[in-house]
Amino acid sequence: MNIHEYQAKELLVAQGIPVPMGEVATTAEQAGDIARRLGGAVVVKAQVHTGGRGKAGGVKLAKTPEEAREKAQAILGMQIKGLTVEKVLIAPAADIASEAYVGVIMDRASKAPVFMVSAAGGIDIEEVAATNPDAIRKLVVDPRYGLLPHQAYLLATELYQEPKQQRAAAKILQQLYAAFVAAGASLAEINPLITTPEGEVRAIDAKFNIDDNELFRLPAIEALRDPSSEEPAEVDAREAGLTFIKLDGNVGCVVNGAGLAMATMDLVKYYGGEPANFLDIGGSSNPEKVVNALRIITSDPQVKVILFNIFGGITRTDDVANGIVTATRQSPIDVPIVIRLTGTNEEIAVKILSEAGFSAMTDMDEAVKRAVELATGEGK
Ligand code: GDP
Ligand code: MN
Repeated sequence: MNIHEYQAKELLVAQGIPVPMGEVATTAEQAGDIARRLGGAVVVKAQVHTGGRGKAGGVKLAKTPEEAREKAQAILGMQIKGLTVEKVLIAPAADIASEAYVGVIMDRASKAPVFMVSAAGGIDIEEVAATNPDAIRKLVVDPRYGLLPHQAYLLATELYQEPKQQRAAAKILQQLYAAFVAAGASLAEINPLITTPEGEVRAIDAKFNIDDNELFRLPAIEALRDPSSEEPAEVDAREAGLTFIKLDGNVGCVVNGAGLAMATMDLVKYYGGEPANFLDIGGSSNPEKVVNALRIITSDPQVKVILFNIFGGITRTDDVANGIVTATRQSPIDVPIVIRLTGTNEEIAVKILSEAGFSAMTDMDEAVKRAVELATGEGK
């Protein structure tokens, strides 16, 4: 789950990290009022679930409340990486002497949280990572002990020469780790962590990704969810109890089990296709889940073919067959459907499908190949 910058900053403040806090506005007038209340120069910042807002024109400084109103007017409604800006954060503008990057991610390779810090922070950090990886210092954290004081200090010395700033940064790194753990995050970063001309260290941007599997035990974090900022199909799928991730290809996939879903996507790619989604209808399928899955997949206009790949264990293939028949009767589907199913109640499933005019395959290779041919137009 993604959260907005203003929410991420609240998680930092809760651990004691110094952040120039502001308020959120949904209209230009509110933005002007907030700027008046804050007094002095402000920064107007698009609140969308993506980085790179600065480069896209979604972060603007304003010297007066009137200017804040104008900047908010321009930013609200703007599209950034396909997302519409519906809220802006109005925060006191910081004077910046230097910009650093500090972040912690859950790293698969290390099977542990890994800190990354760089004195070359700011909006070009991706470029730094790509062209000058040595400018980023990494440190693996032992989750049993967390980020120890000497480790935090070591990282801080990468960022600053001034002992006072090193101590401030070391403290912030430990507080950031605490925020990362408390939020069940898979990523927590501050970019930029700035120094002011007076030498103070401050966080002026924050980004968190929350591990969905932590949410059941963290209701206060779950409450930060903003469905209006999420992919509509993913919201729909979550409410229907399906695990769904939208992708950019045109082969819609309906699969049971995450492992089989991954294998199916691999095979689609192997045969030269591109999956339109990851979708796991889960173990104990009922026809309703299939109906919902088809509704969600067909709402994507890019989808050229729908591939069912069902391995019936606990999942009964006749349930899936009934779901396909029900769904296509309710609303006929105008893209071809390729069905591969095998396992529990396979004979019944094949009978249900053939009576409804569908054919089913049992071989996964053949089915995926066929689906890719249909998607690329070679099978016509
Ligand atoms: P991002 O582009 O989405 O990561 O948004 P950021 O909040 O990191 O802002 C991008 C850049 O805008 C920062 O790296 C700063 O250079 C600049 N910026 C953001 N807030 C302020 C501010 O309060 N004062 C000044 N002077 N610059 C800011
Ligand atoms: Mn940033």
